Amino acid sequence: MSNLTGKKALVTGGSRGIGAAIAKRLAADGADVAITYAGNVTAAEAVVAAIEADGRKAHAFQADGSDTDAQAAVVQRAAAALGGLDILVHNAGVANFAPIADDSIAQYQRQFGLNVDGVFAGTLAAVPLLSDGGRIIIIGSVNAHSMPTAGGAVYGATKAAVAGLARGWARDLGSRGILVNVVQPGPVDTDLNPADGDFAKMLVPLIALGRYGRVEEVAALTAFLAGDEASFITGATIDIDGGFSI
Ligand code: NDP
Repeated sequence: MSNLTGKKALVTGGSRGIGAAIAKRLAADGADVAITYAGNVTAAEAVVAAIEADGRKAHAFQADGSDTDAQAAVVQRAAAALGGLDILVHNAGVANFAPIADDSIAQYQRQFGLNVDGVFAGTLAAVPLLSDGGRIIIIGSVNAHSMPTAGGAVYGATKAAVAGLARGWARDLGSRGILVNVVQPGPVDTDLNPADGDFAKMLVPLIALGRYGRVEEVAALTAFLAGDEASFITGATIDIDGGFSI
């Protein structure tokens, strides 16, 4: 269990799925939380209301994470609203599974734009604002190192890219005590990858535990990495996949 009382956290893509669960969990552990979202204001407001009902401060900001200027600006807005920044969770991401014969430059740029450019721009803006001893946590994917189906080349490459960035940033920021880690989920039940979808029929037999992950399980690992007990973990890529990639 981590105690994040007094910490200020920003979660990108916090309106739905894994990001919403992370935002709520960090707040339940005591943090004030800002989230970004792309377009779903109703879902974003519901997350804010849930956090406020828990007694913490919450803010939601619309920003397209693949627009590097918008991403930098929203990091600054969030830090100003929170009164500082201790924890940055890069969660917003998109996936488009298509074999190379059916792929396109547009889909390549869409995925790299959000999953990599957005992470880089957000970190660049956050570094001067983050407190010493702070945390940068990236939601990657086991597809960074494991690709059991066709069609995931570009998505996997984006997640391998952020794992590489995290290792480098862990070196760059270690002298300030800022820990940089990557949480790498396997299949998790969200709008992006519903456990009752066609893709799931192919994936579930490959998961040792025989089921999809829950967003709360990814949020628990993220909260651990945000807390004091993770004080000697940096530059790590940690799989949470029910045995999908073993
Ligand atoms: P969802 O599609 O359920 O939620 C995506 C979230 O990101 C929403 O809050 C959405 O906002 C936001 N978002 C989407 N596009 C943008 C954008 N251009 N700019 C800013 N925010 C954006 O995704 P998941 O919760 O499933 O995925 C979250 C992360 O976890 C991603 O990085 C994904 O790659 C990773 N992941 C997911 C796995 C899974 O099986 N679900 C497995 C491994 C990794 P809005 O509500 O406004 O649309």
